[in-house]
Amino acid sequence: MQNATVFVVGAGPAGLFAARKVATAGYQVEIFNRDIRPGGLAEYGIYPMKLHMKAGLRKQFAKILAMPNVEYFGNVLIGSQGGLSIDALRDWQPAAMVFAVGAQGTKKLGLPGEEAKGVYSAKDFVYHYNRLPPFSTQDFSTGRRVAIIGMGNVMVDIARWLLIDQPGEKPEEVTVIARRGPFEVKFDSKEFEYVEPFLDRRRFKDELSRIAASLRACGQDIDEVSKTTFPWIQTEPSASHESKLTFLFLSSPVAVEPGPAGRIERLKVAENVLVREGDTLKSVTTDRWSHVEFDTLIFAIGDVADPGVGLPYRKNSYLTNPDTTDADRAGYEVFDGASGKVLESLYVVGWARKASEGLVGKARLDAERGCEHVLKFLEKKGKLSPQESSDIRRELSSRGNGVVTKEDVGRLLAVEVERAETLNQPAFRYATNQEMLQAIHHQ
Ligand SMILES: Cc1cc2nc3c(=O)[nH]c(=O)nc-3n(C[C@H](O)[C@H](O)[C@H](O)COP(=O)(O)OP(=O)(O)OC[C@H]3O[C@@H](n4cnc5c(N)ncnc54)[C@H](O)[C@@H]3O)c2cc1C
Repeated sequence: MQNATVFVVGAGPAGLFAARKVATAGYQVEIFNRDIRPGGLAEYGIYPMKLHMKAGLRKQFAKILAMPNVEYFGNVLIGSQGGLSIDALRDWQPAAMVFAVGAQGTKKLGLPGEEAKGVYSAKDFVYHYNRLPPFSTQDFSTGRRVAIIGMGNVMVDIARWLLIDQPGEKPEEVTVIARRGPFEVKFDSKEFEYVEPFLDRRRFKDELSRIAASLRACGQDIDEVSKTTFPWIQTEPSASHESKLTFLFLSSPVAVEPGPAGRIERLKVAENVLVREGDTLKSVTTDRWSHVEFDTLIFAIGDVADPGVGLPYRKNSYLTNPDTTDADRAGYEVFDGASGKVLESLYVVGWARKASEGLVGKARLDAERGCEHVLKFLEKKGKLSPQESSDIRRELSSRGNGVVTKEDVGRLLAVEVERAETLNQPAFRYATNQEMLQAIHHQ
């Protein structure tokens, strides 16, 4: 066993695979996680019906937590806005700290009216339907006409939820609003298959005709759309549904207009043109605009790092070492812009380093790569005294925040599996921290 302790902040895929890498090298690892349940977006982002994928990841995570030199402190927020500050963590004198807190900040467009009721960020909406407290019990009501901004896989997940799996009444129409055109989709076609039956072929073709001249002007041919990104428009839908999925291309939201009850009623949308600059296509907003009626608006445009964690922050990201002589190592090292120095022993990995980039596999690789640099740093540092987990647990418990251990997580998951069986449901999860803590402590 190596003689040092490494703290990992965040127990999503990046944090857990980082923990595995460091613990396998023999170090003691202490994980601090905001949520009671480990897994991050693998639990609270990945689509609820992907039960097999979620179960597979949960199994891998359980193995990591079962490692004898890995400890878990759930329900512990690290940050400058409540919870435990980074300085407080430093007082325990870890040999290194790896921040794997994901991308918890919301990208704001700053549109007039965007604070209206019925306007949500995709992350919060997805957290709500995956039952992450406190989003699980907050109002994320949707209506008859829903707009989703963005054309990635998260958009597809949300459309799928609204059109297929959301309990209760389904929307009449879900409209995807995209800055660019039909060739610039970012979703995987396999994912889109779920919502393909809802795609209104006639209106999609009308939309293509509307933007044909603009696309032609930048060298794109709408006849290619059906052969490339939207093959489904060549065929009839595989099933018939009342609810429709439509697209509004070359369009940007510019203002939300609420009704008397404060809920979004209309969206002012500007027309864009595509301009080719070398190999890249830029979308440029024009002064032509229109109003479209919506009662729900969801921004699925990616997220940003959370400034509340307390790491040096600039332009939506944590600052990393700009040194180009060893850019790979430097890219994981936290950098203090004020002093112009690396914050020695502090690292960022996963979505905390590159917000909303890639799937679980990518977050894992990023964490493992970052931890190779952590391990090299620890080797150089030499002998250190390891921190006792029991001291940390005692001190955290004395703060009365309901700290959850890995044994507690095991208990919670077992109770939830039992509940699912009793209720004859494929899965069950408690919607509040209080219920989870009760289930853990009152079995
Ligand atoms: C809607 C959606 C659907 C997705 N679907 C898929 C899919 O089907 N397949 C796939 O492979 N990938 C999917 N992904 C991508 C995948 O979820 C990410 O690649 C991965 O979860 C990123 O891992 P991470 O550990 O960096 O961040 P996260 O998963 O976000 O984990 C961050 C962790 O840090 C904790 N944390 C945050 N702030 C603090 C704090 N201040 N103090 C302490 N702890 C904190 C959180 O509680 C969380 O446990 C999806 C993502 C989204 C958003």
